[in-house]
Amino acid sequence: MISLPKSLLAIALGLSLATGYTLNTKSEETLDLVVSIPPQEYFVKKITGDKAEVTVLVQPGSNPETYEPLPQQLKDVSQSDAYITLGVSLERGWLSKIASSNPNLVIINSGEGVELIPMAEHDHDHDHDHQHSHGEDGLDPHIWLSPRLVKIQAQNIYEGLVELDPENQAEYQQNLNNFLAEIDQLDTQIRENLSGVANRKFIVFHPAWGYFALDYDLEQIPIEVGGVEPSAAQLGQLVNRAKTEDIRVIFAQNQFNTRSAETIAREIRGEVVFIDPLASNWSENLLEVSETFANTLK
Ligand SMILES: [Zn+2]
Repeated sequence: MISLPKSLLAIALGLSLATGYTLNTKSEETLDLVVSIPPQEYFVKKITGDKAEVTVLVQPGSNPETYEPLPQQLKDVSQSDAYITLGVSLERGWLSKIASSNPNLVIINSGEGVELIPMAEHDHDHDHDHQHSHGEDGLDPHIWLSPRLVKIQAQNIYEGLVELDPENQAEYQQNLNNFLAEIDQLDTQIRENLSGVANRKFIVFHPAWGYFALDYDLEQIPIEVGGVEPSAAQLGQLVNRAKTEDIRVIFAQNQFNTRSAETIAREIRGEVVFIDPLASNWSENLLEVSETFANTLK
């Protein structure tokens, strides 16, 4: 600690009081929260406003399927007020590590009450000895890509926050209402964007869009087979299917290798288009994705 002359210290104290801050009480004024992926930061911030600092474990550009928490992140989690999980298999690898090194950590499961669907699988008849990158439960973890399911997650986040910080309940309630209204508006806009789309099938490398497809009456055809690259024969089947279904665009995301998406696109003389399931500007991104679908699924 640097020792300041008394007069300077008084000025510093006076200034900090004048701006509404007191020394060393930051942690009492704002909650320190941890989330798994960038879209959750968006959800949590919508409800907390400036009442929380949010740390994201899987940073933009990283792949949650292969993520391992860094030692510094484990430390950040241990000093936080709560970890808000999605409650899906994706987190299983690191959640046990985090929970065992922080027995007193408050965990808010934002996925409580979300009905999971099976992970989309490319039709295949070989034996099941390949690895499943989404854990053993075979259920689709991508619950943050459905506005309908994000409403459930927002409600759970709100309830967890009120338990942590009951003093600000009224503000959280107001913020939750605003966020739910934003989600309803987004849902309406996505439906409008997709209303004229005749061919509702799309091919995507990593099948992250299962809930989105379910909600908006689209059909997702994955390239990945059980979390791994398809064989040459499976690629050939997909090329044939794309040709018979008149599919011209193959979707990919930049957290994964795009080689097989490019191979199919070349064979069908189509193109690879990137859509990001992990963008932190959640609302805007889903709206853009619906516009991309509307422009490419013809
Ligand atoms: Zn995924």
